[in-house]
Amino acid sequence: MPDENWRLTEKEKEDIVAWVKEKWKNFACPYSGDTSWNIGEILVQTTQFTGGSLRIGGPIFPMFILTCDGCGHTVFVNAIQAGILPKPKPESDGGTKKREIRASKKSKEENGNGAN
Ligand SMILES: [Zn+2]
Repeated sequence: MPDENWRLTEKEKEDIVAWVKEKWKNFACPYSGDTSWNIGEILVQTTQFTGGSLRIGGPIFPMFILTCDGCGHTVFVNAIQAGILPKPKPESDGGTKKREIRASKKSKEENGNGAN
C-alpha cells in the first residue's frame, strides 16, 4: 500500500517498472513516439459514473500513471490487476457483493424447495 501520505513506496515503483518490462512490449508513445516514461508519485482512482454527481462509496478502480516525457500523454493501468495493490476483500467489492446477494437468494430458494 502507498505510504502514509498516499505516495507510492519505492517497492511499488520497482514493481511498476517490473510490470512495464514484462507486459509493455512496445512502449513507444502512440502520439510522439518517445520511449521515455515517468511513473506518477501517486495512484489515482476512477469511480462509477453517476450522472455527474459525486457518489460516496461504491466500487473504485485504483490506477498507476505513466506519463510520456515527450508530450505528456498519460496511461492509466489498474493497480490491482497489475498486482501493485492487493485484491480487495469480497465484502468491499461492489461487483462481488452483488454476486453474493444473488447466490444467497438462490440458496434461500434451494432451502425453500428442500424437504426441511
Ligand atoms: Zn508522447
